[in-house]
Parts: sequence; C-alpha cells; structure tokens
Amino acid sequence: MSRFWSGFVKDLDPYVPGEQPKLANLTKLNTNENPYGPSPKVIEAIRMAASDRLRLYPDPTSTELRQAIGDFYQIDTDCVFVGNGSDEVLGHVFNALFRHEAPILFPEISYSFYPVYCQLYQISYNTVPLSDTFAINVDDYSNVNGGIIFPNPNAPTGCLLALADIERLLQRNTDSVVVIDEAYIDFGGESAVSLVKTYPNLLIVQTMSKSRSLAGMRIGYAIGQPDLIEALIRVKDSFNSYPVDSLASAAGIAAMKDKAYFNETCQAVIDERNKVVAGLQELGFDVLPSAANFVFASHKQVDAAKIAAGLRKEGIIVRHFTKPRIDQFLRISIGTAGENQQLLSVLDTLV
Ligand code: PMP
Repeated sequence: MSRFWSGFVKDLDPYVPGEQPKLANLTKLNTNENPYGPSPKVIEAIRMAASDRLRLYPDPTSTELRQAIGDFYQIDTDCVFVGNGSDEVLGHVFNALFRHEAPILFPEISYSFYPVYCQLYQISYNTVPLSDTFAINVDDYSNVNGGIIFPNPNAPTGCLLALADIERLLQRNTDSVVVIDEAYIDFGGESAVSLVKTYPNLLIVQTMSKSRSLAGMRIGYAIGQPDLIEALIRVKDSFNSYPVDSLASAAGIAAMKDKAYFNETCQAVIDERNKVVAGLQELGFDVLPSAANFVFASHKQVDAAKIAAGLRKEGIIVRHFTKPRIDQFLRISIGTAGENQQLLSVLDTLV
C-alpha cells in the first residue's frame, strides 16, 4: 500500500493508553482516575464560564490559571506553564528541552509515553534499571549530559523517591535539565516544587487529572524558572497559542483554590489505599509501597494475566503490562470504598 507520509513516522510505535470502555457498568480501576469527582466549586465555575465566555477566545496567556497554580505553590506566575493535560506539556518539554545529540536518561520501568516522545522528536535516550526493590537509584544518574526525566512517584510502580534523594540527584546534575513528572505526587509524596528556586535546571510537571479529578478537562502544567518556561512557550506558540480553553481554565482555577476539598479527597484516597493494600496482602499479594492513587501488586502463586482476565469477567478492569520484569504485576487504581470492597471480594474467588 502506498503511503503519502513517510520517514520516521511510519516506524513510530504510538503510545497505547489504558482502555476507556464503552460499557457503563464496569468497575474501572485501570487508568488511575480519581473516584471522587471534582469539587462542587469546580462544577459551578464551569457552569458560569459556559454561560458567558464561550463566544470569546480564551486568554492566550492563561494568566489567571497560571496565577492560581502559582498562588498554590507560592511561586511567581512566570514560573508556570500550562497545557492540555500533562501529556501535552510533556510533549513540549521533550521537543523544547531534549535533543538528538545527547541521550537523556529515564528509568527502564517508567511512564511508557517517554520513549514515544523520544521517537517522535528524534531524541536519543538510555534507560536505567530500577533496583531489586524497584527503587530509582540516584547514584545511577550522575553528570548526565542530555537530561533526566522520571515520574515521582514512579509509574506504574507507585514507589516514591524522597525529596532529599531528589536534591542529591540535582547536585550531581547541574548542567542538564532534570524533569520530574509529579502526576501522582499529591497522594503521600512531597513535591519538589520547593527546589525550583534553588535549581534553575529543574522542571516539575503536574496534572489536574488525578488529585484534582479533572482528567476529562485536560489540564497539565509545568513549574520551573522563567528561562525553562520561556523555552516551552516558544514551542507551544508554534502549535497553538490558545492552549487551555475557557471551561478548562475556569475549572482549573476553581480546583486550585478549593484546598479543603483537595486535601479531603486526597486523604480519602490514601485511607482507601491503605485498606486495599492490607486486603491484597491478606490474599497473598506482594504490594510495592505506593505513594500514588494506585497500587502495583503481584500474587505469589497465581498468574497476573489470569487474574486480570478473571476480574474482567466479573466487570472489573485493572491494568496488566506485558513488559519483562513487571509482567506478573497488576496496576490497580484506588476506587471508591464500594469498588475496592468489590475488587477484594472478587479477588478472593480468583486466588
Ligand atoms: N505522567 C504520568 C506518569 C502518567 O501516568 C500520566 C497519566 N497517564 C500522565 C503523565 C498524563 O496525565 P494527563 O495527560 O492526564 O495530565
């Protein structure tokens, strides 16, 4: 078959996202969405924006949204960049800050979008194995030339690298960009945003999809010193200078401002996670220590693919990766108390 497009695109292995099933009555524990839904104040803000702002183009600089994010972290607005979900922000990060000549480093087991972006933007990379306990070993990342990126907590393991270790990593890598993808940081981790003022090469990427329960709105952001943010703006403006639509902006501003709801729902996810971990352990699973809104667990006897298929038969979907070393693990998002109870009951019949 003849193709009018060519070059590296035809060899690109696209990122495969978690399934978004069409059936309504499934218990969906496969893509780490927040079980609690966004703050009522967010819904009200969307309603108001829908009634009076849709006719107009959004603010091309997203100033109010960047300000709300800056206020939350007590950092200047010009240290904040926003985009349509952190996947898009990460795309700009790879495009603007990494390059072909100097390989970047990331963990061998981490977010599977990173190699896709490398292929897409022709960036060379090397992966670094995790330790025996699935930890990122800071000593493996020293004087890296091309840049470093990793999720913290890591995905899909959920394991957290402590802030002191991150600072050690930054001290060993002052000449290249260090990007920390904090998609899941609010479920028990400590953000490295506090280090941005000290380290001009540090960029933090976060999302409103998880702890602020706005996956459907597609809002992500990056925090770093203005020099790095300027690089992202240059790339972004070449694609679409109105990055975040009016409804998403209104939702994001309200979500950042409602700290009480944010704290309460993050804590509820953590409390539920503790119960899920205890329940899984009782059923004979080994569970990696998680600081995320999901757990990564493998059963001592029963094959992971078999368990995933058994759960699916009962209407529960979880994520199973076939990659070597993690092919006996299941990644299970923390759901509502009822969903988690259902999960544990069905697992009890399968293992
Ligand atoms: N980073 C990591 C580690 C993730 O797991 C995800 C969610 N798939 C993202 C970034 C992207 O999230 P979003 O585009 O919804 O902001």
